[in-house]
Amino acid sequence: MVSLPEQLERELSGRGLAIASIPGKGRGLVTTRRFFPGEVILCGEPYASTPNKILVGSNCDHCFTSSNLRKCSVCRVAWYCGSVCQKEEWKLHQLECRAISALTDDRKKMLTPTIRLMVRLILRRKLQNEKVIPSTGTDNYGLVDALESHISEVDDKQLVLYAQMANLVQLILPAIELDLKETAHIFSKFSCNAHTICDPELRPVGTGLFPAISTINHSCVPNAVLLFEGRTAYVRALQPLSNNTEVSISYIETAATTLKRHNDLKHYFFTCTCPRCIKGSEEDPLLEGYRCKDQNCDGFLLPDSGKKAYTCQKCSMCRDGEEVKKLSSEILLLSDKASSFVSSGNNNEAGSVYKIIEQLERKLYHSFSITLLHTRETLLKLYMELQDWRSALMYCRSTIPVYERVYPPFHPMVGLQFYTCGKLEWLLEYTEDALKSLTRAADVLRITHGTNSQFMKELFGKLEEARAEVSFRLSPGNEQIS
Ligand SMILES: [Zn+2]
Ligand SMILES: [Zn+2]
Ligand SMILES: [Zn+2]
Ligand SMILES: [Zn+2]
Repeated sequence: MVSLPEQLERELSGRGLAIASIPGKGRGLVTTRRFFPGEVILCGEPYASTPNKILVGSNCDHCFTSSNLRKCSVCRVAWYCGSVCQKEEWKLHQLECRAISALTDDRKKMLTPTIRLMVRLILRRKLQNEKVIPSTGTDNYGLVDALESHISEVDDKQLVLYAQMANLVQLILPAIELDLKETAHIFSKFSCNAHTICDPELRPVGTGLFPAISTINHSCVPNAVLLFEGRTAYVRALQPLSNNTEVSISYIETAATTLKRHNDLKHYFFTCTCPRCIKGSEEDPLLEGYRCKDQNCDGFLLPDSGKKAYTCQKCSMCRDGEEVKKLSSEILLLSDKASSFVSSGNNNEAGSVYKIIEQLERKLYHSFSITLLHTRETLLKLYMELQDWRSALMYCRSTIPVYERVYPPFHPMVGLQFYTCGKLEWLLEYTEDALKSLTRAADVLRITHGTNSQFMKELFGKLEEARAEVSFRLSPGNEQIS
């Protein structure tokens, strides 16, 4: 492992942080002072980044906004929201633009986000080496160099793929002589270090390499959260952190069983040993499990050997394996039908089928089941698109108790779901409910998202509006209006 440049260590120590060796984990980021919930622990710009959609412009190359985009008229690959962002990127894009413009249309189609990230990384290194753009203690290639590649653990098939990708990058940048082996190693670094850049509603919009943030290890019960404003990354504390605490974020969706989480973590090359993973199986039957035959019992079931029957762990009532199997296959059949409606854009039909699926899943699964939760999330999305606000609200509300159970109290998903609820209630003129939901949303999101972004200002605006409306309705003489 290459040691991190001293300047970064100094920068971190100024923020109350240090790199330490964590038993069983290698390097990690620890606090050297206290942090309060919502406080920014670390923030920074990516060393290199790219929007995820390349040929169709979906985000500005520089600030990642999705509005008013215009493409670079020369290469037709880079998109900008205006001349300010275009100018900011010009020194780098100038070289990239020339390289991309020389490609045939077929080669242009091979520009995946990963390939483009590499092209931009190499160009940035070149420009910093030539001092065309400045490098600083926290913005220099040495930090990328110090990232772990886990190359010795990568399987042969993947190595071949990395070699092919390195060749493609060489074809795109013929003027720069690349060390192909080193380039393949950097691809491996991307796989375990690059971060998905998301918009405030956690929709993925791009990929970026943030070497300082890559020092933060994963936990399935993290004490911090990574979010983005534009392409700037912010890591905020989710709870009070005392001195000498390891900072952790989650690399994956945490509302999942231990098996699923470990599977999602595979390409990072470590086995999570967080408290949740060690406790493991306890919560899993609840997350993926079947419900008790007794409608009034909230126990979860565990299969007998051979899955001939499932026994409730609370009241010992048995559920027949055949009945469970029949219901499951019925749901599976309908799911195929529903997803074919979705892919053909028939949201109306898809909604009707998912509604039946949801009813069947309620009979089959425990109310905290992740499968049932995902169906309800799908229904919420479908009814939002159909602008059926009443149905959307019903499904949105049904997800909240599950969110509150599967996520920690200050998780962005919890805040965002309350926000969606509040917006729907406001639309439907359930003003008091809207005020409650927006208040809950603001309580969570001010910790996870901070208070300064446009996104948060909009939320605070809506909250004020709801508050004013409720107090108007409650003021003497206006009680009858609602
Ligand atoms: Zn922009
Ligand atoms: Zn261009
Ligand atoms: Zn874990
Ligand atoms: Zn029971």
